[in-house]
Amino acid sequence: MNNKSSVQSSGYQSIDVPFEYRHTCWFCGEPYYESYSFMASPNYDRQQLPIMVPCCQECYTFCHSIKVSGLDLLRDKVKEKLHRKYEKHLQIGANWTKEELEDSEFEGKALEGFRESAWKMFEIAKYRVNYSGWPLTIDGLPVMGITSSFQVEFNGIIYPSLVQAVVQLAKAYNIPQPYLEDVVEVVGRNRLAYALRFAKTTYGYSAEEREASIVSLKVMLAEESAQSREETKPALGIDVAVSEITELILSRTMISPHAIQWVLKEGISTLSQLAEHEDAFFEYFTQESELVAFTYFNGIQVYLDKRETDCEWAMNEDPNRALFGRIA
Ligand SMILES: [Zn+2]
Repeated sequence: MNNKSSVQSSGYQSIDVPFEYRHTCWFCGEPYYESYSFMASPNYDRQQLPIMVPCCQECYTFCHSIKVSGLDLLRDKVKEKLHRKYEKHLQIGANWTKEELEDSEFEGKALEGFRESAWKMFEIAKYRVNYSGWPLTIDGLPVMGITSSFQVEFNGIIYPSLVQAVVQLAKAYNIPQPYLEDVVEVVGRNRLAYALRFAKTTYGYSAEEREASIVSLKVMLAEESAQSREETKPALGIDVAVSEITELILSRTMISPHAIQWVLKEGISTLSQLAEHEDAFFEYFTQESELVAFTYFNGIQVYLDKRETDCEWAMNEDPNRALFGRIA
């Protein structure tokens, strides 16, 4: 079959649907209802023909009110609408565990009904917002520029963006949204759990109280990072001749005296210090060869790990314990 001519005669393109997904909504995994014909707006990439995307009834309806420039943005907007519509269902997971819900003693018919269906509703909503579709291709060619890099996961639920996550989580945990935004900005997007914990345990939400909490949060984080820098800061190093160092084998790995010599010279005695100086290590030993550098690094990691996890051995049996004693 000639795809080009079929496209021209039909006036649209369809995304490829693998056999096992042929009755499935690309957005949320629910049963297929109708294909939505997507045209980019604004049309930056000069899309010529509408692209048909299989939808369930609900996502199909959502799509009609969305104007975006690409299919990934369309997906994110549909997910946002799902998040909003099923907000109460998704909050069940934030407020309860399955076991708590089963053990809880709701009284009255309506509440009993809630208990029986609540977890199911939560799981369905979670499945739909988390559903990632299948890889987008048209006539076997990948659709370019599709990204999910703005997505954020928290507590097993995927949000299309950090902004969206903050909006929903502020509601779920009863935290003023502007305050949660401030906290997330201070702690960073990778520490949402920390941000939420902090925001939840904040004492009072008046403007002054919030400001004071943000200040103390900044102080806490500054102390935390100073401490981690302290931990990875090496001691004063020592110069030792290779002949003074004992080569050893641990976990079938040879640990080169040259590598040991280097860490002693740099004053490194822990894995975290080594990690901080990984680049310098490789820069130094790659002069010999990449393989040498890699082998040495691997060996010294095994060695430092052994010294850290087996203090007994490090203090009494390590043949180089006296040398490490001098830098500690
Ligand atoms: Zn759907």
